Amino acid sequence: MRIARFRYDGTTAIGRVEGDRIVELPAIGSLHDLLARPATAADDGAVLRLDAVDLEAPVAPLRRNLFCVGWNYAEHFDEGKAHRLNQATELPDRPTFFTKATGTLIGPRDPIDGHPSVTQTMDWEVELAVVIGQDGVDIPVERALDHVFGYAVANDASARNVQAGHGGQWFRGKSLDRTCPVGPWIVTRDELDDLSGLTITCRVNGETVQQAHLGDMYFDIPHIIAELSAGLTLEAGDVILTGTPPGVGFARTPPRYLSIGDVVESEIERIGLLRNEVTG
Ligand code: MG
Repeated sequence: MRIARFRYDGTTAIGRVEGDRIVELPAIGSLHDLLARPATAADDGAVLRLDAVDLEAPVAPLRRNLFCVGWNYAEHFDEGKAHRLNQATELPDRPTFFTKATGTLIGPRDPIDGHPSVTQTMDWEVELAVVIGQDGVDIPVERALDHVFGYAVANDASARNVQAGHGGQWFRGKSLDRTCPVGPWIVTRDELDDLSGLTITCRVNGETVQQAHLGDMYFDIPHIIAELSAGLTLEAGDVILTGTPPGVGFARTPPRYLSIGDVVESEIERIGLLRNEVTG
């Protein structure tokens, strides 16, 4: 199943995507409602053309920050090594976590705010987003996938100067308003039992800048959930970004960053495509 959130005729609704159509679920107000009470056939409403609606981020509105894994592809860890000060030189033996503020969230076709007065070093980071479907704490590895509702595509666009300029932390540079597209919908877990062969790609103005397989992730999804939920309750509707593959702009020679007018495409095979123009 593919669950989308969309605007149509002045209202916002949740729906189920079927091919080039979307079936509105008028009694369901949000993803949180859907997780609390799964839809039945009796919930089906109007059938609309997918290209006639405006897709929003399927996980909106967020109740908590987006959870993120810092380094999860070995080659991405290595490419950043030369640029880090006072930070790890060996890939940690446990996942590295940070969060992004809720105001970062935008939809799959919305503009990425380039914040030209704050940064000239906005960078791309395509990532797999995991959507939690069921509350849990101290979740064991072997039961972790039971807590996953589904998957989406995200881009953890990052202002590198803001990352470096405040003590090397990640929160500020990854929390600028309207910089994190998520979508285009959530593909439920039952449709994707093996993610490892799926290709994850980022293109800038049509040029491929990142490409890997989800199987290249260093920490797999069950281990990420088990580590993150140790003493920290994960809630239904929470979102975890699982790290970006190699090919980011700051690690290139010379470095390359996003400019106003650039178009960022973030795609994962069998999940979907985000297309976001950078505006300022
Ligand atoms: Mg990231």
